[in-house]
Amino acid sequence: MSSAKQGAGAAPEDTSWRETVDPDALPFREGEEAWTRADVDEVIDELFADITKQQTAIAVAEHELADLRDGTDGAGRDPADVGSNNFERDQEMSLVHSAREMLEQSQSALRAIRTGHYGACENCGQAIGKGRLQVFPRANLCVTCKQREERR
Ligand SMILES: [Zn+2]
Repeated sequence: MSSAKQGAGAAPEDTSWRETVDPDALPFREGEEAWTRADVDEVIDELFADITKQQTAIAVAEHELADLRDGTDGAGRDPADVGSNNFERDQEMSLVHSAREMLEQSQSALRAIRTGHYGACENCGQAIGKGRLQVFPRANLCVTCKQREERR
């Protein structure tokens, strides 16, 4: 009976794989110092914190959306109310959308760390750079490719 129940996100965090991450295997750019165990731990911590934050944001926004849905079927509602309700719903929906996207990026970054593919640009294969990843651990593109993508 005890092993049958495993709710979403309720499973205890298994971080034993952290030990197996080899900091020396992570790419860095010319002029940067090599990754250390502490650097890697920091990035992992940040990604876990991001995931928690994004999951919370999604849960909150979805709750708001449910509330809005429940509140919109009332007859005799002021049209201005309905309008602001729709506006709010759009806001919440785009919030959920971007939080989901970030969540996915964070999870895929963690997966990359686990599998030893972290730090290489998904487009050109060059090192994304330690400095960039420390500021933006979810990054999967180097600055050059990112800028090129944004210009498209
Ligand atoms: Zn690149």
